[in-house]
Amino acid sequence: MTTTAVEPKRPVSADEAREVAEAAREQEWAAPSFVKDLFLGKLRMDLIHPYPVQDPADAERAQPFLEQLERLLRTVDSDRIDRDGEIPEPVLRGLKDLGAFGIKIPREYGGLGLSQLSYMKAIELVSSIDGSITALLSAHQSIGVPQPLKMFGSEAQKKKFFPRLARGAVSAFALTEPNVGSDPAAMETSAVLSEDGQAWILNGEKLWCTNGTIAELMVVMARTPSKTVNGKEKKQITAFIVEASSPGVKVTHRCHFMGLKAMYNGVITFTNVRVPKENVLWGEGKGLKLALITLNTGRLTLPISAVACGKRCLEISRSWANERVQWGRKIGQHDAIAQMLGTMAANTFAMEAVAELCGALADRGESDIRLEAAIAKLYNSEAGWRIVDDTVQIRGGRGYETADSLRARGEMPAPVERIMRDFRINLIFEGSSEIMHLFIAREAVDKHLQVAGDVVMPGKALGQRLAGLVRSALFYGWWYPSRWIGWSFWPKYAEFAALAPHVRFVERAARRLARGVFHAMLRFGPKLELRQSVLFRLVDVGAELFAMAAVCARARRLLDDEPVAGAHAMRLADVFCRQARGRVQAKFRGLWRNEDVPTYQIAQEVLRGEHAWLERGMVDVKY
Ligand SMILES: Cc1cc2nc3c(=O)[nH]c(=O)nc-3n(C[C@H](O)[C@H](O)[C@H](O)COP(=O)(O)OP(=O)(O)OC[C@H]3O[C@@H](n4cnc5c(N)ncnc54)[C@H](O)[C@@H]3O)c2cc1C
Repeated sequence: MTTTAVEPKRPVSADEAREVAEAAREQEWAAPSFVKDLFLGKLRMDLIHPYPVQDPADAERAQPFLEQLERLLRTVDSDRIDRDGEIPEPVLRGLKDLGAFGIKIPREYGGLGLSQLSYMKAIELVSSIDGSITALLSAHQSIGVPQPLKMFGSEAQKKKFFPRLARGAVSAFALTEPNVGSDPAAMETSAVLSEDGQAWILNGEKLWCTNGTIAELMVVMARTPSKTVNGKEKKQITAFIVEASSPGVKVTHRCHFMGLKAMYNGVITFTNVRVPKENVLWGEGKGLKLALITLNTGRLTLPISAVACGKRCLEISRSWANERVQWGRKIGQHDAIAQMLGTMAANTFAMEAVAELCGALADRGESDIRLEAAIAKLYNSEAGWRIVDDTVQIRGGRGYETADSLRARGEMPAPVERIMRDFRINLIFEGSSEIMHLFIAREAVDKHLQVAGDVVMPGKALGQRLAGLVRSALFYGWWYPSRWIGWSFWPKYAEFAALAPHVRFVERAARRLARGVFHAMLRFGPKLELRQSVLFRLVDVGAELFAMAAVCARARRLLDDEPVAGAHAMRLADVFCRQARGRVQAKFRGLWRNEDVPTYQIAQEVLRGEHAWLERGMVDVKY
């Protein structure tokens, strides 16, 4: 097999990539974070319990919009959208007329001015019908122009762009390039000031820009001239609002994918595009930080769309497992299928608990939710994928057959095959699962790096190391022993009734997690960042514990607010927590006893072609 890789013009070193990512990090933790404390061994149930609920006034204001949206969605033929690769014009028009492109845009600028939770309820409805429409609305509102404009735009920019966006001027977000996937350091799209100093001149090519082929406005990330700080070159990446109608902007290709067939995604080139200097968002050099902060809430679209998918799969699986009889029983009564179904129900409840908790925390504005949102993205996309996979299995051969083919044979046209194709991308875009693990791991060790970074990191002066040692002795002298002790047994958390043992487990496991992070840092030192399997297990434990805490808090709240549903929720929560505890124990065990090193070695042998003999027996194909 021969391949043609995209050659970087100038390879970017690992140090350079890390430097760019570090510069874009939010350094401060201005507000409390449930998950950050969890990684430090502290369970702050007070931050999420009682489980926050939506502001009733906001819910009431959103209701008419959500009802109209639901009516419009009933008219959508998603199989046709999948077949044609186009969202029909009346649907697009209907969405625009309803204000679906300005859900969170403040009312004074012509938007609906609804909350994050209301936006997520709208996305849940849309996602229960069609993934391509979710992609359209999400790329526009989660990462496209409205969200960064709301957070970082000047008053003049808001007045200029919001009313257009709210009326339905579609927007897009353009970061990715052929050589820029997860790592923005290699960005080649550039912008330099024009000779008259009134505009930036943009040149470059962006890849996979969702909505790019129909957008009127785009947020484009580009390199602006580097700055020298303390004698060192600092790369600058700046965010621009670009009018797609500007001379020099060209859609050169519409991309097509495994699923989401009606995604308006393209390759866009910028040739000497003049962007007025007033269109810089937030400030020169702040583009990547803007993207990261925008994604703190932007990332919440995907978790709620995974919930919608979980619910649809549960509905389809329940109906089929009740109807289909094989070997003298409904298949739902065969243990293997029942295990899938029970797990699916428990995980759907958990995914909703996680997503809605993050949405409510975002609306309340009292917590730093960067870690919670990242976990929601990671956890729900992975759990959602397992649900989709099980649904295909429960449907058997029908799970693999297209809805059109099922319909033509007179069978229930459940679109499981399409759901699977549409869902897969969720583990890749808006931060792939691997990148989310790394992002969470970096934030999870932040406190340790602040305290002991000068001791363990290479290249520090003697004075810095000594100061770091003193700091470490003062901090760890108290912190470490206290991660071993603490009462996490009966009757603590008794208000959680039957779930109390699970909350107590979360507290004990949080302390064990904190110790695990600390021990990993001691054992691997600065090389810990290379031991991704170790880091990922720690992150997975943190994610499971967050999900357990969210689930217990939500079930407890439901028991108060809706006793009948609450009683069912308590059972789902119990099963979810029992399963999660098993996964947590396994991850802890795997921390120090695993096959990571030999597996890594095999991978390097594979890369060197030493196992190419395994690939014998195929027809040679040139790609
Ligand atoms: C349908 C679709 C829509 C998209 N929409 C947009 C959009 O609107 N705007 C936009 O800017 N981009 C968009 N993207 C791009 C998307 O965000 C990227 O695909 C994603 O960031 C991953 O980049 P990549 O595909 O180049 O993978 P790479 O970065 O090349 O990664 C390849 C694999 O290696 C893993 N990997 C990379 N680095 C590491 C590491 N340090 N450690 C461990 N594993 C690593 C990745 O997780 C992945 O599994 C879209 C992509 C698709 C397919």
